[in-house]
Amino acid sequence: MSLKPSQISVPFPKPTFPNMHTKITIEPFRIKVVEQIRLTTDEERQQYLRDAAYNPFLLKSNQVIIDLLTDSGTSAMSAEQWAGIMRGDESYAGAVSWQRMEKAVHDLTGCPYILPTHQGRAAEHLLYSRLGGPGKVFISNTHFDTTRANIEFSGATALDIPIPEARDMALEHPFKGNMDVDKLQALIRQHGPETIGAVILTVTNNSGGGQPVSMANARAVSEICKREGVLFILDACRIAENAYFIKQREQGYESHTYREIAQEMFRLADGCIMSAKKDALVNMGGFLALKNLDLAIKCRTVLIITEGYATYGGLSGRDMEAIAIGLEEVFDADYLHYRIRSTTYLGEKLRAIGVPLIWPIGGHAVYIDAKAFYPHIPVAQFPGQALVCQLYLKAGIRSCEIGSVMFGKNDENGNLIPAPMELVRLAIPRRVYTQSHIDYVVEAFRELMDERERVQGLRIVYEPPFLRHFTSRFEPA
Ligand SMILES: *Cc1c(COP(=O)(O)O)cnc(C)c1O
Repeated sequence: MSLKPSQISVPFPKPTFPNMHTKITIEPFRIKVVEQIRLTTDEERQQYLRDAAYNPFLLKSNQVIIDLLTDSGTSAMSAEQWAGIMRGDESYAGAVSWQRMEKAVHDLTGCPYILPTHQGRAAEHLLYSRLGGPGKVFISNTHFDTTRANIEFSGATALDIPIPEARDMALEHPFKGNMDVDKLQALIRQHGPETIGAVILTVTNNSGGGQPVSMANARAVSEICKREGVLFILDACRIAENAYFIKQREQGYESHTYREIAQEMFRLADGCIMSAKKDALVNMGGFLALKNLDLAIKCRTVLIITEGYATYGGLSGRDMEAIAIGLEEVFDADYLHYRIRSTTYLGEKLRAIGVPLIWPIGGHAVYIDAKAFYPHIPVAQFPGQALVCQLYLKAGIRSCEIGSVMFGKNDENGNLIPAPMELVRLAIPRRVYTQSHIDYVVEAFRELMDERERVQGLRIVYEPPFLRHFTSRFEPA
């Protein structure tokens, strides 16, 4: 039976937190080590942004006050993780730290074959270079950009099939990250199961606004894949954050622990890739975990050639120690509540002052609709890039354009073929900023709201042939 997304969505219940005694959510940690933020003046920032050619990717990090460029690899590690770093066993083969990481990943995913890698995209390369190749088709709720790049680099095709509700920015839906299972069934029939490299469910759906995937949707995808004999892989970078949404929003999971919810989702899949730079709360690392021995052996051969020996991949012993500990800490109920609440807090405050954004708020970031924020700036002058620049000039906040700078293309006459949406992402690093940092971001937006009409767009003066958002140079239009 294939469930329609509308059948599996439940009314959006008000979350209740029986163990919370206060309305205000406090950071469930205190600060033992501090990292100085250099506060800059308006004049300094004008100079820095000019020097960076109006592209915040070209800024130096010590020119930034609040860095919301990405949540990847930017987590603060705990005292326990730092203690683990000291215990790291740097033996070439069979290190104790590897045994700890292998056990932590095995207990969580249920997969017997675990391959450590230096980050998520390396795990993607191991797997998708084996499964891909010309003529092969991969299907996902939304492929993350490195996932798509690895698949297309092998010569295969990557198809995105989010539920239709995901395309409506303002629509309230509890699981906007879901895959369209009717389309999945139709695509498998159309292409034939033997041409499908894998079905990849990204939880939470990063490129789709960090929106969660329901267990019912994962189950429906799993059933179809089993019936058709197609491999089902979880892109599990933010599976703990996803588990939080399931517990709060999906019937039948109220009394499960977050860890049990994640374990149940892993049981549905044939394997997973994970960038440890997200929900494993470390600055570098990743892994591939599989249930099939033949496939694991094929991937392990590439692992040893390109990453490192089978018991360390591209990682130091101390990195593996920190991953093992991070994978425990991330499922702590107080941590997850603080994590999702603090992201939502920023979204709610911005919405209350009239900032147009993707709703509901996802797990790791707030996405602003820059086209609605600056309706007078034509898309060809990049309203998202304009907002990113204004945020930096106003308050030293670094954010990321996800619009026509990142995904736009030019036709043969040099005219812009725009991206479907002009977004600015405010990604929240884990355990790094306090509520007053976030209030500062809201204050900056309040001022930007009042000055909207005066802001102008930008034009590109240099762009590289690929991934232009990283190194393009701009000037005011
Ligand atoms: C970050 C990410 C990856 C790639 O991981 P890296 O560690 O950056 O190489 C893959 N998929 C998703 C959903 C991600 O968010």
